[in-house]
Amino acid sequence: MFNKDRIMECVFCSKTTLTAETFYEDENFAAICNIRPVVKGHCLIIPKRHVESMLELNEKERKNFVSFSNKAVFIALKYADTADFDLLLQRGENAGQSVKHLHFHILPRKRNDNLAVNKKEFFQSFAEKENKVKTLTQSEMAVVVRELSSIAENHKIQIDEL
Ligand SMILES: [Zn+2]
Repeated sequence: MFNKDRIMECVFCSKTTLTAETFYEDENFAAICNIRPVVKGHCLIIPKRHVESMLELNEKERKNFVSFSNKAVFIALKYADTADFDLLLQRGENAGQSVKHLHFHILPRKRNDNLAVNKKEFFQSFAEKENKVKTLTQSEMAVVVRELSSIAENHKIQIDEL
């Protein structure tokens, strides 16, 4: 379904956002740095096409999703220097979805990172941190994106196999 007005106002469909925040991409997906990182390496996986839910992904996107996620997670974990992470999808307002363009949060996790482990407390601490954490400036974003991109380049052979 193509809705021009909806796409025009979508932050993840904005060329400016994508240019400034993407650190890894393929034909269908982009891995972008979250503008308000709740933890170090907090990134998002988004389809390049504007869809609201996983149900709208086409066959090719569905097939490529797991492999792309593995690659994006690999880069985020190297950057954050940990092996643990949450991969979070919030679908619908009641589940906490704010931007109506399908996106998965990658949250690299560490002991004592101030995000809870227990599910109930996790969502509470996640929401609190999202509201409190400061928005990256353009130059701060550029630094993070550069570091993530260079990890992607330096581990290209490994990442291609994921
Ligand atoms: Zn969009």
